[in-house]
Amino acid sequence: MNADALKVLVTGGKGFIGSAVVRHLVEHTDHEVVNVDKMTYAATHASTESVSDSPRHTFEQVDICDVDRITSVFAEHAPDVVMHLAAESHVDRSIDGPGAFVQTNLIGTYTMLEVARVAGVQRFHHISTDEVFGSLGPDDPGFTETTPYDPRSPYSASKAGSDHLVRAWGETYGLNVLVTNCSNNYGPYHFPEKLIPLVTIRALLGETLPVYGDGQQIRDWLHVEDHASALVTVVQSGVPGETYNIGGKSEQTNLAVVEAICDLVDELAAPLPTGAARRSLITFVADRPGHDQRYAIDQRKIQAELGWTPTHTFDTGLRATVQWYLDNEDWWGPLRTGGASDRRGLAG
Ligand code: NAD
Repeated sequence: MNADALKVLVTGGKGFIGSAVVRHLVEHTDHEVVNVDKMTYAATHASTESVSDSPRHTFEQVDICDVDRITSVFAEHAPDVVMHLAAESHVDRSIDGPGAFVQTNLIGTYTMLEVARVAGVQRFHHISTDEVFGSLGPDDPGFTETTPYDPRSPYSASKAGSDHLVRAWGETYGLNVLVTNCSNNYGPYHFPEKLIPLVTIRALLGETLPVYGDGQQIRDWLHVEDHASALVTVVQSGVPGETYNIGGKSEQTNLAVVEAICDLVDELAAPLPTGAARRSLITFVADRPGHDQRYAIDQRKIQAELGWTPTHTFDTGLRATVQWYLDNEDWWGPLRTGGASDRRGLAG
């Protein structure tokens, strides 16, 4: 498809990954962005401040479940393609209150598909997670694009359902769909209830670090800017109807991530008043119900077919990310309101 000067409607473009996609589109391509976001607790305007003056960035505060408002947005802006990231995204919140996940992730995706279909968009790219595939054993090969779905939390089940809706709209109505399933992301503007920002902030402040279970759950980590570049590659060059898995080739146990952050905060911030190493803040709490043991991504398809590979290593990316949170208390300070993970344990 012609990759020049598309009008891209991005949903969830004020959240963690969506804002990285918006920044990437404005700063590294000629595309125009229509950023549609409801501004839930997880959204901040600061995340797109660097592109807010660009004439190629427009923001619409709209709930994707609101069919009338979404229809108006499509009528007004006539987007060429949709990149659909808006979602409820936190596993612990999905355990506390699954209703919002069913609403936004299923009804919201259905609404976007129907409006996009009627409007005749050229492409509908649905952004999903590796959590739809369930949990791997220690020696299992990574998830491929054909791994059967086995979601185990309300979050992953609602994302799995949304993936199925997208593929059904492709098969049944001929909508030109693309699906990507990605591993755990980290980087700037990550809401401070998620593992890496939460541990960084709690370690900085000398608060306890209550790791779920034994902390031996394994996640694959990808820097959010690498995810954004992968998503833009897929929306421009992906084969219609195809799915691409995206990963960072960086499997880590949750405990190893927590320990690495403790060491970085010791190195980069002032010492604790007690003089103790931050690893001493780590405690272990009862495991999350249905906690998946291991996620790993086989990303050979996107690498071979679209030529995308991650550019950040976990070591350099984590160091830069920890430094970003240390430098940006103005951003995360007001967002610390006792999120779900503050009440429970720490996990990726
Ligand atoms: P996030 O929670 O940081 O951001 C979600 C954004 O969607 C927020 O800006 C929020 O305001 C918006 N939103 C929520 N409900 C909405 C609604 N009803 N209408 C309009 N906007 C709404 O999430 P994220 O981490 O940026 O994840 C983005 C997408 O990527 C999600 O679909 C998620 O499933 C997927 N994903 C995330 C990860 C990860 O590690 N964070 C990994 C793989 C895939």
